[in-house]
Amino acid sequence: MEQRDGPMMAPATPGVANQADLVERARDLFPGGVNSPVRAFRSVGRPPLVLAGGAGSRVRDADGCSYIDYIGAWGPAILGHGEPDVVEAVREAALDGFALGATSPREVFLGEAIRAAMPSMERMRFTSSGTEAVMSALRLARGATGRDLVLKFAGGYHGHSDALLVEAGSGVATLALPGSAGVTASAAHNTIVVEYNDVAAVEAAFRRHVGCIAAVIVEPVAANVGVIPPVPGFLEALRAITGADGALLVFDEVITGFRVARGGAQARYGVTPDLTTLGKIIGGGLPVGAYGGRPDLMALIAPEGPVYQAGTLSGHPLTMAAGVATLAKLTDETYERLETAGAHLEQGLAEAALEAGRNVAISRVGSLLTVFFRTEAPRNGSEALTAERDGYARFFGAMLDAGVLLPPSQFEAWFLSLAHGDADLDRTVEAARTAFRA
Ligand code: PMP
Repeated sequence: MEQRDGPMMAPATPGVANQADLVERARDLFPGGVNSPVRAFRSVGRPPLVLAGGAGSRVRDADGCSYIDYIGAWGPAILGHGEPDVVEAVREAALDGFALGATSPREVFLGEAIRAAMPSMERMRFTSSGTEAVMSALRLARGATGRDLVLKFAGGYHGHSDALLVEAGSGVATLALPGSAGVTASAAHNTIVVEYNDVAAVEAAFRRHVGCIAAVIVEPVAANVGVIPPVPGFLEALRAITGADGALLVFDEVITGFRVARGGAQARYGVTPDLTTLGKIIGGGLPVGAYGGRPDLMALIAPEGPVYQAGTLSGHPLTMAAGVATLAKLTDETYERLETAGAHLEQGLAEAALEAGRNVAISRVGSLLTVFFRTEAPRNGSEALTAERDGYARFFGAMLDAGVLLPPSQFEAWFLSLAHGDADLDRTVEAARTAFRA
């Protein structure tokens, strides 16, 4: 595995804004001092970090302290940070003049690269975020079926659009919120929530609402309440149930796309959805989302059809360039390396926990991993939410002090990258030996 072992990087220049100063100024500007809630580190009881740079498997804070990074930009950084060919591709694209307000060649190149890896994405649209991709896919599902209801799973996070903030994961779970103020009853009313991995509950919902459910939306590997793999047969059952009722199956692969396999979870588990949403990795770390799937459905999108969706900066050339360069690096061989690295880390962490007499359960799918502070790996969001948050917070703090940056929430996945070498993984396990005693 490629090694870019970064020792402590250069300390911040005296007189230049340091960590504490920037945290204070950010607090003054932004709610919680952040522009996305989980970055506030509230649930782990630490002040937020200001990250000034990243290279390979490392990130560096505004004081110049370096950490082995498992936040991974919350998913996109599968190559590690600042991969030179991706940086060069973005630089070249920038010289062509940013967004020009018409289709750019790079949109076609990225679209074709995505379709080649994920054949169910026969036609697609780029958006600027995963939230928009999901909103648009569900508008399309409603437009195509003429039905109103959407079924999601407890703990599933699909962005921050109104109708999907019901029993959501990610920051909503981290902050132990039931949902969000400001969501109207009518928006929430069309969302049905059942437990992940519970086929009987899905069947019951379809019996109760025959012919009324437009779509089932699912993270094929739940990754926003910690990592929860689908139990064998679950995704297949969703395919069969939706098909029989005339509802659509939407895989939200914003995290799992190009993460758990080149072709995403649909390739890994061999189940083909009607529509897929993507984000994160396909933008190489720049803002992105995409939705796509069956050509008859995508033909309903404006201007070909009556379902409206648009975006000034959709398909941004810099994002497209970063995406093309990123996907070009992802081969079957890289996924084998990620699998090996993930297994190595999982095993090391399990041994470290055992030595420390800590009862934890580790869930992993490829390079996505969660150490749950509970005795058994959860099968659904409700079980996950019973994990011991304080235990995780202490573990997080001890790891941070040892130079390892974990996601600042029990309910966010650790993201491994191709830049994490054996030395990084060994140092992480070494730190965990002590941290599990914390
Ligand atoms: N779907 C899933 C599965 C996600 O994990 C996320 C974000 N973490 C989103 C949708 C929303 O994406 P974005 O934050 O880009 O709007």
